[in-house]
Amino acid sequence: MGRTIAIANQKGGVGKTTTAVNLSSWLSLIGKKVLLIDIDPQGNASSGVGIVKDNLDYCIYDVLINNKTVDDVKQKTIIDGLYILPSTVDLAGAEIEMVNKNSRENILKKAINQIKEKYDYIIIDCPPSLGLLTINSLTAADSLLITIQCEYYALEGLGQLMNTVKLVQQSLNPKLTLEGVLLTMFDGRTNLSIQVVDEVKKFFKNKVYKNIIPRNVRLSEAPSHGKPVMLYDPRSRGAEVYQELAKEVLGIE
Ligand code: ADP
Ligand code: MG
Repeated sequence: MGRTIAIANQKGGVGKTTTAVNLSSWLSLIGKKVLLIDIDPQGNASSGVGIVKDNLDYCIYDVLINNKTVDDVKQKTIIDGLYILPSTVDLAGAEIEMVNKNSRENILKKAINQIKEKYDYIIIDCPPSLGLLTINSLTAADSLLITIQCEYYALEGLGQLMNTVKLVQQSLNPKLTLEGVLLTMFDGRTNLSIQVVDEVKKFFKNKVYKNIIPRNVRLSEAPSHGKPVMLYDPRSRGAEVYQELAKEVLGIE
């Protein structure tokens, strides 16, 4: 049964998509069968694994609104064993259209349940909000991976996120657990980065991953080439650390 991990934080620009793309790529390369679900209307995870959105007949919008199945919509990626449920700007209107649907929080979960056993991991890249798309993701997920950028106001909004998680656990998905907390864009030259790591560790204790993602220019360049960093520059520090993170998520030391 595919372990379903939602990568969320309602803040934008904190490394969710970079983590979704590079974690799922490494899990595939290690030999796991992985489905990456792009549920952000910006569609950055889709382009990040080489999908040209103009060429798509369907996207995740059609799964949420038009009763298409995951198998109807999923695409192969440039990486063996990695499939993606792509997103396009069509998704931008989905939240409003979903409001009138029956059990609107469960639509993604139902779609995933039909294909869950075909994958080892299902990774969901959430949008930067706590709206219905993120609620659908948290309802469908076994666990939540939070990315936190090592910057000013890093902890701002986390109370709200954890509150949303609690509400989802109470009514929609009692089995939702915290997979882990990933610190991103760490810059060891600044006291600020070091302070943020300390604060986040105080708050989330042993749930913080040992591997911390450094600021690395290769990680920010790779998406414009439509490639995960391990294809763009496998020797970069960014590629190495995401590989180590994938092992940590798998429980391999
Ligand atoms: P989110 O999905 O949370 O909005 P992204 O993963 O898209 O965040 O990251 C925001 C921006 O920062 C992107 O331009 C991305 O390429 C860049 N970025 C992400 N992680 C790193 C990193 N570790 N080092 C340098 N740039 C990064
Ligand atoms: Mg994103």
